[in-house]
Amino acid sequence: MAYREIVKEGDAILRKKSKEIKIFDDKLEELLDDMASTMLKYNGVGIAGPQVGVLKRVVIVNINNLFLELVNPEIINQQGQTIEKEACLSVPNVMGKVKRPKQVTVKAQDRYGNNFTITGENWLARCLCHEIDHLNGILFIDKMIKEEKKDNNKENKHCNNKDS
Ligand code: ZN
Repeated sequence: MAYREIVKEGDAILRKKSKEIKIFDDKLEELLDDMASTMLKYNGVGIAGPQVGVLKRVVIVNINNLFLELVNPEIINQQGQTIEKEACLSVPNVMGKVKRPKQVTVKAQDRYGNNFTITGENWLARCLCHEIDHLNGILFIDKMIKEEKKDNNKENKHCNNKDS
């Protein structure tokens, strides 16, 4: 296992569409292992291929004591909606509210090519959506709901007080 560098917002790689995995070999296993160690190093709850500079449809989520590797993930069903704050290893120092489905069902393959589906609610659903967006060149800041002016002022004041 090795750590890989996290690609940050502004890098064109994050805006490209990732390619489907067709070969399940040692190289894929190495990529997944490296992504996991990189994600854990930076305390992430999820990571996607483009975030380590690899435009392949691979995602890891690590949330609610659930560690999942998803190869070629695809949302096949979604229900409801929730709004919560998100952050991203590739967009440091930014947090913002994003509307996501409350529940999603995702079809994917494991590192050996076996098919499975997973249904997740709330944070797991949110995390799956966020990571799968990365595979399509979409960042959470694209979907971020703009806070009302009043809230922004409040937050700024708070930050200023903290700094001084
Ligand atoms: Zn992200």
